[in-house]
Amino acid sequence: MTAAPLDRAEDPRRRIPRTDTLLALPEIVEARPRLSEAVLRSLITHAQSRARSGEITPEDVVPAVRAAVAARNATTLRPVLNATGVVVHTNLGRAPLPQAAVEALVASSGYVDVELDLASGQRSKRGTGTRGALLAALPAAVLEAVPDGVDALVVNNGAAALVLATTALAGTGELIVSRGELVEIGAGFRLPDLIASTGSRLREVGTTNRTHRADYADAIGPQTTGLLKIHPSNFRVDGFTSSVSIAELRTLADEAEIDRGDGRPLPLIVDIGSGLLTHDPLLPDEPDLAEALTAGADVVIASGDKLLGGPQAGILLGRSRTIQRLATHPLARAVRADKLTLAALEATLTAGPSPVAQSLHADPARLRERADRLAAAVDAPVVAHEGRVGGGGAPGVPLAGWAVRLPEELAPLLRTGEPAVLPRVHDGACLVDLRCIPEPDDGRLADAVRAAQTRLACTRGPGNTGDLPDLPPGPGR
Ligand SMILES: *Cc1c(COP(=O)(O)O)cnc(C)c1O
Repeated sequence: MTAAPLDRAEDPRRRIPRTDTLLALPEIVEARPRLSEAVLRSLITHAQSRARSGEITPEDVVPAVRAAVAARNATTLRPVLNATGVVVHTNLGRAPLPQAAVEALVASSGYVDVELDLASGQRSKRGTGTRGALLAALPAAVLEAVPDGVDALVVNNGAAALVLATTALAGTGELIVSRGELVEIGAGFRLPDLIASTGSRLREVGTTNRTHRADYADAIGPQTTGLLKIHPSNFRVDGFTSSVSIAELRTLADEAEIDRGDGRPLPLIVDIGSGLLTHDPLLPDEPDLAEALTAGADVVIASGDKLLGGPQAGILLGRSRTIQRLATHPLARAVRADKLTLAALEATLTAGPSPVAQSLHADPARLRERADRLAAAVDAPVVAHEGRVGGGGAPGVPLAGWAVRLPEELAPLLRTGEPAVLPRVHDGACLVDLRCIPEPDDGRLADAVRAAQTRLACTRGPGNTGDLPDLPPGPGR
């Protein structure tokens, strides 16, 4: 059986507006500086094909194109309200930037004197301002304690800093590292594999839980080109443990130089991970750049977008001569930070407390008030909820706080709402923690929750309120 051919005049598809007509819409013309011809055409083609398949009527094509153009931003990345209570959330891009860093990004987005001395018109050293801000952020005592002075270098990220340091300082020789420090930093990404990829050989010493000074001393030989200490940032080994301090490793490295008699210093590379500048009493076990430098590291490696609260960057702080070796190694060019990173990092270092610091040190009483206000607005209970540092930092440190407890089914609706909200799904509930929400966004958050509740009520129909059984308030995790 064959279908009778549609009368061409009656075929609704003939009423689908032509591409030329759609390209001439005022909204499209206006969007031209913002969106490329290719993007505009793809939005048009998409609307036309929706009409061709019958998903929308031909009359809906123009409104659909208008809506698509209006909704299409320069980036497909969507801002998210982080309601998880996890401060440095890797899936959400780690540290949210301070306002000063945002302004620095904009200011440095055009031509800037990143490598030019305007007074002389001569080429200058890249990243001088950022280097200065890093050194200025360290206590003066640290700068004085380091024998030949402190210098800094900024690269793409912590992993790049580690690759540069091991390549430039240890070459293809043996790097001695404790078995307790061979960590996987996330999603199957293992630091030992990264280091091995540079051609350096890792000489593992000690055991998972205990490594002693003698383990390093016994392993040091003519083949040794460095000592490496990595902070096991995202897990904790409790109980029968011991490790060798940076100061002890410094002594070992100095003695090795004498023993080997070749006058070659044995570099001590320390990867602290999270990038605290100085000690934070809230995170007692978290190492910091100042302490690691003072204790004798030749070079300390940290990330810019974890506890430091800035842009993605790898920070190398160390003895001047060591940093010079790193800066002049050919690999330095391959991992060099761009002007945007340099500007945002400098601004983060010179600004007041970063959003990361503010979320970490949020006053529990104030968090409670905000949670109570949200709870009243959305008619849900407040429960105790512990936030986390996240980003592979201070895994054992709970951050006492509160969350508004909602039905679990609300979570996907919150994630796909406008603004998008990422709650924590735990124990059959959707928990909304205000720790990482900027306070001015509290109203938008409440609106987003109410909108999600309305959407949920629509999908459920009447008679099913979906209330959770009452649970006693207790710690969230
Ligand atoms: C996070 C981390 C890294 C990697 O830093 P990125 O900035 O993510 O590249 C390396 N070492 C340790 C100990 C870390 O915690």
